[in-house]
Amino acid sequence: EDRKEYLDTCAYAGEILLSHLQHVIHYEQLIQNQSQFVRVVTHDLRTPLTSMLGFTSMLESPQVGELNERQAYYVTKILSGINQITKLVENIQDAGRYDPETGFYELDRTFTDVMELVDRTVSSYLVPAEKQNIKLQAACADNLPIMNVDVGMLDRALTNLVDNAIKYVPDGGTVTVGADVRDQHVVIWVQDNGYGISEENLTKLFQRHFRIRRREHKRVKGSGLGLFIVRSVAIRHGGDAWVESIEGEGSTFYFKIPLKGENLLSYEGTLPVD
Ligand code: ADP
Repeated sequence: EDRKEYLDTCAYAGEILLSHLQHVIHYEQLIQNQSQFVRVVTHDLRTPLTSMLGFTSMLESPQVGELNERQAYYVTKILSGINQITKLVENIQDAGRYDPETGFYELDRTFTDVMELVDRTVSSYLVPAEKQNIKLQAACADNLPIMNVDVGMLDRALTNLVDNAIKYVPDGGTVTVGADVRDQHVVIWVQDNGYGISEENLTKLFQRHFRIRRREHKRVKGSGLGLFIVRSVAIRHGGDAWVESIEGEGSTFYFKIPLKGENLLSYEGTLPVD
């Protein structure tokens, strides 16, 4: 009698489990199809974007002929739109790949001079910064190591931070990008004297798709993926990212990468100092 009851209960529990599992499989498939869809679409978007960027840039070259003031203004607007879409597409691609929870992205490690990385990003933002009358400067310590890291990922993280600083700092502001060694970590930071961030938002800032709505930010479009990627990149290298900010005074975003293990593999524990 007892045995039969146990068996019935077991069979019933099994049925429930099976039906839950079927749901899980169903949703898993939906998610996979969705991310496959996002992968294909973002990949396919890149080809026309690249050609739009190329041809629109050519309009600015003297061989094509002089543009009048209004035409030149329209070209600048189109270029800025193309750049915005390109950055969004790249961030969507990277958010999927770099997510420590879902991404299976293998780190593509190469020896990377941290100082060069900072200088490269700063140089590529000098023109956009100047257009907004923002002073952009580098402030690297002189004992920076050469690390064995995924330079593409680090480039993206630092680019997102500098891009944000330029986006969210009012005209006439100052943005400083620096790197130094603290506590067996390389710390890369981007400091601005912009609007700052309220205490309640500080902790949520690095979450996927989190954005702050404030009047001053209205003209800025974004996906809320930038800082999520920054933190994911740091975590994939064994580090972390965080922010310190005072509202009305400015913010400093940091990301740190530990100076050990694979991040330095070829140097057998001795830090290369110049
Ligand atoms: P997005 O820029 O696409 O909104 P991010 O993840 O890069 O996404 O940033 C999330 C939010 O953090 C932004 O919406 C913005 O409000 C805030 N933020 C980022 N950087 C700064 C900064 N330097 N100063 C003030 N607010 C910032």
